[in-house]
Amino acid sequence: MKRRHPLFQLATWKRLAAGRIPGQVVIQYTDRCNAACAQCGMRRTSTFERSSMDTAQARRLLDAAAERGVRSVSFTGGEPLLHFDEIVELMEHAGRLGIPFVRTGTNGFIFRGHEKPGWEDRIKRMAGRLAATPLNTFWISVDSADAAVHERNRGFSGIMAGMEKALPIFHEAGIYPAANLGINRLTGGDGAHRLPDYAGPATDDPNSNDAARRFYAAARNAFRRFYRMAHDLGFTMANACYPMSFDDESEAVYAATSEDDFIRFRPAEKALLFRALSDTIPEFRGDLRIFSPRCSLLALVRSYASGEPQGAACRGGVDFFFVDCKDMNTYPCGYRGSENLGRFWDLDLAAMPAPDCRECDWECFRDPSEMLGPVMQALRSPVALGRSILRDKEAFRVWGEDVAYYRACGFFDGRKPPRYERMARYARTESLAETIAPSLS
Ligand code: SF4
Ligand code: SF4
Repeated sequence: MKRRHPLFQLATWKRLAAGRIPGQVVIQYTDRCNAACAQCGMRRTSTFERSSMDTAQARRLLDAAAERGVRSVSFTGGEPLLHFDEIVELMEHAGRLGIPFVRTGTNGFIFRGHEKPGWEDRIKRMAGRLAATPLNTFWISVDSADAAVHERNRGFSGIMAGMEKALPIFHEAGIYPAANLGINRLTGGDGAHRLPDYAGPATDDPNSNDAARRFYAAARNAFRRFYRMAHDLGFTMANACYPMSFDDESEAVYAATSEDDFIRFRPAEKALLFRALSDTIPEFRGDLRIFSPRCSLLALVRSYASGEPQGAACRGGVDFFFVDCKDMNTYPCGYRGSENLGRFWDLDLAAMPAPDCRECDWECFRDPSEMLGPVMQALRSPVALGRSILRDKEAFRVWGEDVAYYRACGFFDGRKPPRYERMARYARTESLAETIAPSLS
């Protein structure tokens, strides 16, 4: 039977018409992890009591999610594939319940030992088992364009070469993994490619001062190097997780945050960083299915340049939720740890408040909120949408391009190969010299 993309399923549109975005639950199945990532509180050297969900409880959570119209579940960690059999079983359960978007991923440890006998058979078995589930998106974390930097940060050697060998095996099985970049100062590599500090005033104009120009140029170079590497390695899809450093992380329930300098960016740096990412994406839209929507990046650039939150309010705590592995409790997201909503199966989703949070840049929740913002507005009041368009034509032009590009990417169905001839229409090459002035002084 032909697989219809969940976006075109009636249930999705019924939900939108009722003023709700297709629900999403991020399920932290475990906080156990075997990697050493400097940017994360769950790294293997962190000492805290580790937990994993009870599978029966996780099944109950999925039952409750399906009953409440949730359309997307992500199994995250820690490292979810430390519990490979359980995750496969739960993904199958989610599929039986009719939840159409099912996601999981890996820190890449499965690619170790690619030179050893039996490695290829193991990867084939794994890809085959994942392909037999309704898995829609399979992400593989990659921290840097430089293999040595990535492997040093993760604490795994040889995994980039393993990934390169494994990607065709996954493609053969019908799974097209996404390279998942957690943006950091070493995205482009170390040494000359490390992102410098920018301590100047907040601005979205790289030409406003020399330091801004240097930072922006370095960020453009880093993103270019990253996307080129992802494409050359064999990825067909890429996503970027925006830096989630917190001044005070005591309230975050999801421990994938850190105060480490590696991912710490000042607000003024973020305005230029997101501008550089947004300006780089069009160069690679013909080579990779890049999920990061430029409308979301535009809102972030404007927020950090002006100091005023902008863009659509996040659906975290309204339609999107995070469930913690320690106690199975639900939170609006991984960051609003002081708002314990209790067990998911006790929640009345109809009683959730209207969206109004723009506290953080968690792309899992912010990007889909931004992409669906105008759709929700159109369904609520086409007249109000018309007024918004007249007020901010640039935002709607960028959003319209994103929608057209998403279409060309088959809405990022990770079970289908890319259609490069359609994506090529959205590729645009803009040299750095066209963006930044040769000299400001
Ligand atoms: S970022 Fe992911 S892989 Fe790295 S230590 Fe944290 S949970 Fe583990
Ligand atoms: S903006 Fe951030 S803190 Fe607010 S609900 Fe969304 S993910 Fe949570």
